[in-house]
Amino acid sequence: MKICIDAGHSIGYNPSPADPTYREGTRMFDLQGFLKPALERYGFEVICTRSRVEDNPSLYTRGTMAKGCDLLLSLHSNAVSNERNDTVDYVRVYYPVSRRGQALAKALSETIASTMSTVQQPQFVVRWNSAGNADYYGVIRYACAVGVCGMILEHSFHTHPRATEWLLSDDNLRRLAEAEAAVVAQYYGMEESEMRYERLGDVKNDAYRPTVEKLLKLGFLRGKGGSGEDTVLDLGEDALRLLVILDRAGVFD
Ligand SMILES: [Zn+2]
Repeated sequence: MKICIDAGHSIGYNPSPADPTYREGTRMFDLQGFLKPALERYGFEVICTRSRVEDNPSLYTRGTMAKGCDLLLSLHSNAVSNERNDTVDYVRVYYPVSRRGQALAKALSETIASTMSTVQQPQFVVRWNSAGNADYYGVIRYACAVGVCGMILEHSFHTHPRATEWLLSDDNLRRLAEAEAAVVAQYYGMEESEMRYERLGDVKNDAYRPTVEKLLKLGFLRGKGGSGEDTVLDLGEDALRLLVILDRAGVFD
């Protein structure tokens, strides 16, 4: 299974009238940074239309880049106008006029709304172009043209102060990404796999590395052969986390 993430717009685009430090094009790129690994943990292959925050491919490029993918998710936050608005706070997911992916669009809209605690009910809708023969939104239309189900996720409104403040928290974006990945995984029948650390060199996380080095030095952890960075650990994420907790508790001192 392969997913294309399209973080909407580009760096600095669409400042929030509620809090100018919020920029839709920058913040949705940040969300992509959490969503990509969250999806990968379920075994999805993930590509992104923007590899750098400065990138701003055309809608045609974004849509057609998804060729060969099972799904394109375009990440956005909505706006009522150019003014701050204290009432409009809801999630909307646009999916193709062909109605492909309707159940996923519904599930995503509900999950995003409950994670963000938005005020009004979430919506999952299609939008026809004025000729009534194709999708209104270019990114969905171009994705459909290459056979891919494209969706636009509007993460409430950056004209709403509370929603904007919520989206400015990294912890919240991480939770949002985890929730979205879980919904997509459930829809496609993918299961989360535990991260494994085969060799010492795989342990790059600053939270784990000092404990592992300490335990190897003390001989509490012996490994299964190899030496240096190639010392074979064969440890899962849960095991490493537990060792760090015990280390913090002073068990190895
Ligand atoms: Zn947008």
